[in-house]
Amino acid sequence: MQQTLLLDSSYYPLQMIDWKKALTLFFTQRAEVVEHHQDVVIRSPNQEYQLPKVMRLFCKIKKIQSVKFNRMNVFYRDNFTCQYCAGKFKSIELTLDHVYPKSKGGKSNWINIVSACHDCNNKKADKLPRDCGMHPLKKPKEPQWIAMFLLKLSHHEKHIWSDWFASKSL
Ligand SMILES: [Zn+2]
Repeated sequence: MQQTLLLDSSYYPLQMIDWKKALTLFFTQRAEVVEHHQDVVIRSPNQEYQLPKVMRLFCKIKKIQSVKFNRMNVFYRDNFTCQYCAGKFKSIELTLDHVYPKSKGGKSNWINIVSACHDCNNKKADKLPRDCGMHPLKKPKEPQWIAMFLLKLSHHEKHIWSDWFASKSL
């Protein structure tokens, strides 16, 4: 089943929601439909509804969302690219590497963790970047929520959403 993109009142993307939540928001008059999915219809016994593709809440969400720090989100941030050899990998072929080694007090957070393939991870082991000459391609930092959102969309169903995002400036 296709999903619905939920925006706040200022057209800021909030999250992807399923059709049940989308229709609930609509019927409780908390959101309006901006655009429908073509050819996706939800049928109840006596009516049918076109599935909303994009919905806009009537209220504005002020809170800036932060990206949860976890394994998959680090891979997304690094675009599934080993930060040492620049190779592209699947998530199961990647590991999390502490740039500043854990054994030397390095923390597990956005600014000290990068994606690394198993080979590079083994090669680097618990050495400091300057000692082994292995530096991450990009200095790791916390990703912006909106950039992450678009990056995730680009991995899933990009074709469905690309026209929409191309036509709107975020
Ligand atoms: Zn590598």
